[in-house]
Amino acid sequence: MLLKTTQKISSDFLIVGAGIIGLSIAYNLSKKFLNKKICIIEKESDLGQHASGRNSGVLHAGFYYHPESFKAKFTKLGNLELTKYCDEKGLKIKKCGKVVVAKSEKELEILFELKKRGDTNGVEIYLVNESELKDIEPNAKTYKYALWSPTTSVISPIQILQSLKSDLEKQGVAIYFNTPYRKKLDSNTVIGGNYIFEYEILINCAGLYADKIAKDFNLADNLHIVPFKGRYLECYSTPQIKRNIYPVPDMRNPFLGIHLTVKTEGGVKIGPTATPSFWRENYEWLDNFRLTEFIEIVKINTKLFFRNKPFREIAIEELPKHLYTKKYILGKASELVKNLNISNLKWGKVGIRAQLVDTQKYEIVHDFVIQKDKTSIHLLNTISPSFTASFPFTRYVVDRYIGSGSSYEFR
Ligand SMILES: Cc1cc2nc3c(=O)[nH]c(=O)nc-3n(C[C@H](O)[C@H](O)[C@H](O)COP(=O)(O)OP(=O)(O)OC[C@H]3O[C@@H](n4cnc5c(N)ncnc54)[C@H](O)[C@@H]3O)c2cc1C
Repeated sequence: MLLKTTQKISSDFLIVGAGIIGLSIAYNLSKKFLNKKICIIEKESDLGQHASGRNSGVLHAGFYYHPESFKAKFTKLGNLELTKYCDEKGLKIKKCGKVVVAKSEKELEILFELKKRGDTNGVEIYLVNESELKDIEPNAKTYKYALWSPTTSVISPIQILQSLKSDLEKQGVAIYFNTPYRKKLDSNTVIGGNYIFEYEILINCAGLYADKIAKDFNLADNLHIVPFKGRYLECYSTPQIKRNIYPVPDMRNPFLGIHLTVKTEGGVKIGPTATPSFWRENYEWLDNFRLTEFIEIVKINTKLFFRNKPFREIAIEELPKHLYTKKYILGKASELVKNLNISNLKWGKVGIRAQLVDTQKYEIVHDFVIQKDKTSIHLLNTISPSFTASFPFTRYVVDRYIGSGSSYEFR
């Protein structure tokens, strides 16, 4: 394709992707480097077209994650900081908490493990019995014990993105919509849309395409995004559910299981499912079909299936449910509550997780990944709970890799 690249745009920091990670990197950079020029390029015409605008909207508390992980390090703090941001800006936030309920003796073991992780991660979390659960969320049902997390809450992701955009514009950050990253020209220049962008440091926050861009910089050699689709059912009035209700997760995979989330505007969301998606932006039917992606993703999924036992077990369990009928989702939800008397259900927006797989070890990667070279930083596997963790996680990236002082040094 012959591109008519007419204009050269120079900046100190060039960010690719205006999801929550790209916007909060810009937010932290603009606070730290007052006089530096920051540009963001975004391939879509508006905010929130991908994961950041298509998620459960939950500010997680931080008890699920392995204590050594970035997820554990930044989720509790991220919850606190985004709560403060919503309160200060007057954005919607429902401080409703959440319960995790068990179905069997076997699930109790995982419940106790989650309680331990929560304690290690310094998260406020309580083990409650059935009668205590009744006082907290009368409609939830459990086997013997449940977990009660008072600090989990629900926000409006789109409102937060819009508020950040307006903060950034006031700070002089330029956001170029309809401007896809196309290719690297040299270590300080890339083509984005019809422009040539010159920069000192590029930060790749491209979500579902972050691995592709990292590969353009000869990074992420053994890392590939294998997208997983999440479908939701939504309804607008359910007075009998006041708090988020989650099942005990299958700790072998990074997903939390179909749950009930209270919405900020009233009603509940049920989901998300977790089935492989065969190309990256496959939201509905043949949306955004790309043959090369399809072939690549089928190949990786097939190899994972044969080489990774836990993945195979999950796939065998999950694949038959690929069509995810309403009946199946409602069946899963009804395992969590005594009375699921919900009417007027509609399909909600589908979300796709940018899940990374290590194709050398044929393992699913569980934590956020940071890779860098001399002039670029690449944020990969920014899966859940990266919305919650976004503020402190991106501040860590800025502080750890971009030194302070009158002129920054890149470490
Ligand atoms: C179903 C689902 C439920 C979730 N629930 C929660 C939750 O309850 N709580 C929570 O904390 N997290 C949740 N998450 C995770 C959270 O949504 C993501 O971790 C987070 O939104 C990732 O943000 P991001 O900025 O990395 O990616 P994105 O939001 O995908 O942003 C990346 C941006 O990069 C742009 N881009 C891509 N390629 C290019 C290119 N070539 N050039 C320019 N721009 C490009 C895209 O258009 C996009 O706008 C959920 C995710 C899913 C899918």
